[in-house]
Amino acid sequence: MRFKRLKLSGFKSFVEPAELRIEPGLTGIVGPNGCGKSNLLEAIRWVMGESSAKSMRGGGMEDVIFAGTATRPSRNFAEVSLLTEVSQPVLAAVSVEDGELEVVRRIERGAGSAYRANGRDVRAKDVALLFADAATGAHSPALVSQGRIAAVISARPSERRQMLEEAAGIAGLHVRRKDAEQKLRATEANLERLLQVLGDME
Ligand code: ATP
Repeated sequence: MRFKRLKLSGFKSFVEPAELRIEPGLTGIVGPNGCGKSNLLEAIRWVMGESSAKSMRGGGMEDVIFAGTATRPSRNFAEVSLLTEVSQPVLAAVSVEDGELEVVRRIERGAGSAYRANGRDVRAKDVALLFADAATGAHSPALVSQGRIAAVISARPSERRQMLEEAAGIAGLHVRRKDAEQKLRATEANLERLLQVLGDME
């Protein structure tokens, strides 16, 4: 999966709508301190389903919404859109035209987050799995933020394993395994109830 374009509006310091083309190859972000380099990387992680406010350097998820300055009022929503190139349909019920998939995440104060993929409403879980399967998820080692190298060096073996799983695109398997185990437990409970009813009828 290749990223082609990032659009932001009301996200952290990007109060005005901003659009960035992401060209093929390695992308570096340069600029003076405090200009918003890390915010851009966070916007990419956020639209891919990041659910930890802490890893977005905030106390709560609404902290990603432009909080206002001495001269500008705060905003009530933040929206990030990521246009990607995909080689096949990746989400059920979402049609892909010209090999492009646009994922949009929007958060409104007091109303939480919602996701759309090529204009259709989708679940947070589907978006997170979609990017995890493509090995570009919110925790992908391909996104190298400040302090990340030091974190890799000092990581525990279990954390390194997690990074390898993200890189290999198999991180989504844990979520699917949990889902499957839940279904299995529910089915076992249903079966037990059915056997009880049958026993009562005999
Ligand atoms: P450095 O090079 O120092 O690490 P940077 O270019 O990575 O800086 P960021 O950390 O991305 O910069 O941006 C920090 C700026 O974003 C700060 O000025 C901060 O006030 C602003 N900012 C962060 N969250 C919000 C928000 N919710 N609303 C408004 N501004 C915000």
